Amino acid sequence: MSSKPDASRPRAADTKKVHIADTQMTRQNWYKHVNWLNVTFIIGVPISGCIQAFFVPLQLKTAIWAVIYYFFTGLGITAGYHRLWAHCSYSATLPMRIWLALVGGGAVEGSIRWWARDHRAHHRYTDTDKDPYSVRKGLLYSHLGWMVMKQNPKRIGRTDITDLNEDPVVVWQHRNYIKVVITMGLIVPMLVAGLGWGDWYGGFVYAGILRIFFVQQATFCVNSLAHWLGDQPFDDRNSPRDHIITALVTLGEGYHNFHHEFPSDYRNAIEWHQYDPTKWTIWTCKQLGLAYDLKQFRSNEIEKGRVQQLQKKIDQKRAKLDWGTPLDQLPVMEWDDYVEQAKNGRGLISIAGVVHDVTDFIKDHPGGKAMIKSGLGKDATAMFNGGVYYHSNGAHNLLSTMRVGVIRGGGEVEIWKRAQKENSEYVRDETGQRIIRAGQQVTKMPEPIPTADAA
Ligand SMILES: [Zn+2]
Ligand SMILES: [Zn+2]
Repeated sequence: MSSKPDASRPRAADTKKVHIADTQMTRQNWYKHVNWLNVTFIIGVPISGCIQAFFVPLQLKTAIWAVIYYFFTGLGITAGYHRLWAHCSYSATLPMRIWLALVGGGAVEGSIRWWARDHRAHHRYTDTDKDPYSVRKGLLYSHLGWMVMKQNPKRIGRTDITDLNEDPVVVWQHRNYIKVVITMGLIVPMLVAGLGWGDWYGGFVYAGILRIFFVQQATFCVNSLAHWLGDQPFDDRNSPRDHIITALVTLGEGYHNFHHEFPSDYRNAIEWHQYDPTKWTIWTCKQLGLAYDLKQFRSNEIEKGRVQQLQKKIDQKRAKLDWGTPLDQLPVMEWDDYVEQAKNGRGLISIAGVVHDVTDFIKDHPGGKAMIKSGLGKDATAMFNGGVYYHSNGAHNLLSTMRVGVIRGGGEVEIWKRAQKENSEYVRDETGQRIIRAGQQVTKMPEPIPTADAA
């Protein structure tokens, strides 16, 4: 009897009763929606700690110890619960796993098994209804609403945790969770301060209760702040973001856009100057022989992701700009008609077979009115491309916004070849926008054209 088809196993309660989370909250039933156990641990206990703090003076030694224990327990979550167990981004020896399971338990955020299971669902179903702490349901919801309000466990996305069930440390911690929490969350911080310098009550309040509150709030920020504040250098389709403030608050978990893109990388910050004490801790443990098999994505792969996201941003910017009418959408003009219209006072100028209406631009021409007027009604290709002045890329770009037609005859075949190229797949981005690279406007000749009558 190794496998049971428990997914399809109907439970009496399931078939009859609708889960409270799936019912409308009303004035009569609101208290049934609240997860009172979690409210006690996340809100009630910290409030009691704040009240007790009024009566217990804070000693310097206790304060330092509280900060040190904050880092121990916080790293238990970030290096242990998160990067080791939820993501398997490295392997740890038994002593290190026991240590992380203990100090992680001291952060009072649930057992490794429960935490890592939800976190895997969060990665797999980010921003959807199956994401247990989706930021799409609001910042406060992703921070702690998902814990203080009851959730229908069946709505959370399924994940595979067979590896966790095979880790005896994880299983032991899950079975003895309450004992671990009381011992590591409250008794140990109290014992150290009490036996060390006689501050039993201070150890309990500051290194115990209030420290738990700060660790909880800090790590909750990974679910809220890291999905709300900052940049998205690798992918902007989902909510995860990178920000130094989140990193400072969360022991280095703030490079969350990177993390969601490369979750099995033991690092969150990839630059040496970015703040990621969790990474430093794992690396140090490796030097001490406690951790091994640290996983890291090749920088080639990371840079590819970064470049693709940059490309996407560039495409979005390009789409907002006026690049002129595409060649194949311009009307065809006879040469004589072009000359005639220019003679009649319309400011038309033909360059490389493309006709431009520069009437409104003549007065603004940096090279002077006379110069541009001398090209009206003529083939000004050579004048524009070096004969008189070898115009800049910016000038070609501006010119393209004044296109009004294409000349039949003469360079027509060339023009249509270029029109085809301009319209072809390989000069379009993925959204179908044309890409006109610098120096590649159709009016641009590859080499400056010297002409005899130029000077
Ligand atoms: Zn996330
Ligand atoms: Zn993660």
